[in-house]
This record gives sequence, C-alpha cells and structure tokens, in this order.
Amino acid sequence: MTRLRTEIPGPRSRELTARRGSAVASGVGSALPVFVERAEDGLLVDVDGNRLIDLASGIAVTSVGNPAPRVARAVREQVDRFSHTCFMVTPYEGYLEVCERLGELTPGDHEKRSVLLNSGAEAVENAVKIARRATGRAAVVVFDHAYHGRTNLTMALTAKEVPYKHGFGPFAPEVHRVPGSYPLHDGLTGEQAARRAIAAIERVDDLACVLIEPIQGEGGFIVPAPGFLPALARWCRERGVLLVADEIQTGFCRTGAWFACDHEGVVPDLVTTAKGIAGGLPLAAVTGRAEVMDAVHAGGLGGTYGGNPIACAAALGAIDTMRELDLGAAARRIGATALPRLRALDSPLVAEVRGRGAMLAVEFADRTPEVAGRVAAACHAAGVVVLTCGTYGNVIRLLPPLVIPDVLLAEGLAVLEDAITAARGS
Ligand SMILES: *Cc1c(COP(=O)(O)O)cnc(C)c1O
Repeated sequence: MTRLRTEIPGPRSRELTARRGSAVASGVGSALPVFVERAEDGLLVDVDGNRLIDLASGIAVTSVGNPAPRVARAVREQVDRFSHTCFMVTPYEGYLEVCERLGELTPGDHEKRSVLLNSGAEAVENAVKIARRATGRAAVVVFDHAYHGRTNLTMALTAKEVPYKHGFGPFAPEVHRVPGSYPLHDGLTGEQAARRAIAAIERVDDLACVLIEPIQGEGGFIVPAPGFLPALARWCRERGVLLVADEIQTGFCRTGAWFACDHEGVVPDLVTTAKGIAGGLPLAAVTGRAEVMDAVHAGGLGGTYGGNPIACAAALGAIDTMRELDLGAAARRIGATALPRLRALDSPLVAEVRGRGAMLAVEFADRTPEVAGRVAAACHAAGVVVLTCGTYGNVIRLLPPLVIPDVLLAEGLAVLEDAITAARGS
C-alpha cells in the first residue's frame, strides 16, 4: 500500500475526470479513471503521485517497458532528423527495415512482403483487401468471440454486439461467422472443434480467407484446444483459401514465442500485427506470402501516415529490445509464475485460469460482468491495473509488461488473489 498516496482515483484525477466530461466524447471509455503523469519499470505514476502496478501494458502494447530506453532513444533521434515524408511520396530506410524484420520474424521461411499501417483495425482491413484481390473472391470467415477492431469492416468481423457494434450498422457484407474452439465451454478436442468449424465454413461460397486470432483477445483470452489451428490451416491450404492470422494482441513475444502461431507450427498466408510492435508508437502491418501481397496493383495499398518514420524507429528499438532481453523467455517465465499461483487459489468463483506466456486470464463461472467487475474494481482500488474481457465480460486478463520486475508481478498477483478471495464473501 506504500505505493499509494491517496484513494484511487485521487483528487487530482477526479478533477480531471470532471473536466473530461465537457471535452471528451462520452463514447470513449477508460477502464480506470486515473490520469497518468509518467511510467517507470512496470509502474504507472498518476497525477496524485500514486504508483500503480501495470498488469495491462496499455492492452499488450508496452511489452518492452514504458518508457523503454531503446525505444525512447530511437524516437528522439528520428524526430530530430525528420518526422514525416509519407512513404508514398519519398521513401526512407526505417520502413524498409521494419518490413525486413517482419519478414524474418513472422511464421514461415517463405518469401514475404509487408505493408505498414497505423492501427490494428487498419491492418485487418488491408489483409481482407489483399486476400480478396489475390483470390478474386469476396467472402470472409470469422469466428464466434472474435475481435478485429472498430472500423466499419472490422466491426462486421468482430462478434460482440455491445459495446462494439450496437447502433453502428449497417455493416459490411460477405462476413460469415462460424464456431471456433473454446475448450471450457464446448468441451471439444481441437480435432472435433475444427471439424465443426470446417463443416460451417464449407457452406460459405466464394471464400477468400479465414481470419482468426490464434488466441482470442477481447473475446476472453481463449486458447483453442491443441490441434484446432493446424487442422484449420491444413483445410485452408488444401482448398486454396487464405489463412489470415490476426496476431495484433498475441504477437511480438506476448505468448512466449514471437507469434502465437509458432506454438503449433502454423504458417498463415497473411499475418496482421500492431499493439506490441513499436513500444507504444502507433504502427501496424500486414505481412504475407510474396505472391499474395504482390497480387495487389501499384497504388492499391498505403495511407498518409502508414509506417511513419518515428513509429518505424520505435519498432526497430522495440524489436532489438525483445531480441536482446529475450522477451519470449521472459513471457514464458511470467506464465510459469502466474498460472500455478492463480490455479492454486482454487476458488469456487473461478471457472478456469488459462493463458499462454504473459497473456493470462481468469474466467469466472458467473457468466455476467458482475464478479469480474467487482474483482477488477478491488484491484484498481489497491493500485493494480487489470482489465476485463470476454463475450460475457466475465474474464480478468493480465498483460504485464514483459520486463516487469518479479517483485511487482508477485505483488500484483497477491492483490488479485486477495480480490478474488474477497469477492467470494460479498
Ligand atoms: C486490438 C486488436 C485489434 C484492433 O487494433 P486497433 O489498433 O485497436 O485498431 C484487432 N485485432 C485484435 C486481435 C486486437 O487485439
């Protein structure tokens, strides 16, 4: 508790929250209404001088630390040289280097090409554009519990109605939703779940691509049963349907490998990345087979800011940090520490503790946001930033920075454990 100087949120944060109401659109939410002044080593320091343990990393973004020294240095150097030219006007080396790294790091050793963009949703939109152009087909298959963004096409691809889609239609056509693999709820093996999914996919005509998060993020940190993804990949390959892996939340060491597909040797045709790629700077990418990517006509892809030089410099600093500090191993250590601890709680409120690497979740048996919301609120009050997720809002998710000091992780987990234990009594 010594990290906290006031109640959470403190008086200065409450003041800013009141001001926010007359300037910031109310449709923009905040999980925890604490205004941040700076960050250090796994902590967020708020405007009241409270130090909060960060188990969210700004939704899996600041995996390399916040601020991360190499990212900060790269950004400072780049902003002093030039801040923007637009790659479509005059190119620069940073963009090229990020694409080269993406080619090396993403699954598969085939020849690849990349396009850089600003946000995850934009990457997903472009992946669909590319898949349609390359195949000459229109339909896209997505899954129950999927999350792919908030733009018009990606809202159509996203499953959850409230708050992401409610009242925002009409949505883009040619999107078909099929069941995935949610072992806790469906009790199916990977093979069985894949057979069920494939039976539904086979009813879709004119299919360009199957779009899947290898571990579903906003939908509940759902790790598919082993064998599900490889079976799906096999079917796609045999049918000439493109497999698009949305690795926006799972990518860049988060799950203990460079990409979540790596755990089962799945090689997608296209991969979308964003979030953890650039240590907090806005950057996203689509990386894919050269022949698929290059099926798009010149001028068909791009955007004013896509692959901004400062964001590219940040990405190179972030990727160097991941390599140098072996953050894949760090993520595996976080999982190996947290999973047994949380499982040992053995609370009747908890339906499942799951996850991979540093992408961890506690799903509550109550299929409403009630218990998860109460646990999250107790963590927040004790100065630990956790997020909820899940189609039913009944999941607490942990996305600690991969460089989090062991003592802070232990302290954060202890607060979560206490919150879960206390929730039982209320
Ligand atoms: C966050 C997320 C997106 C959307 O990314 P934005 O940068 O918020 O547009 C898409 N797909 C997945 C899996 C995500 O987690």
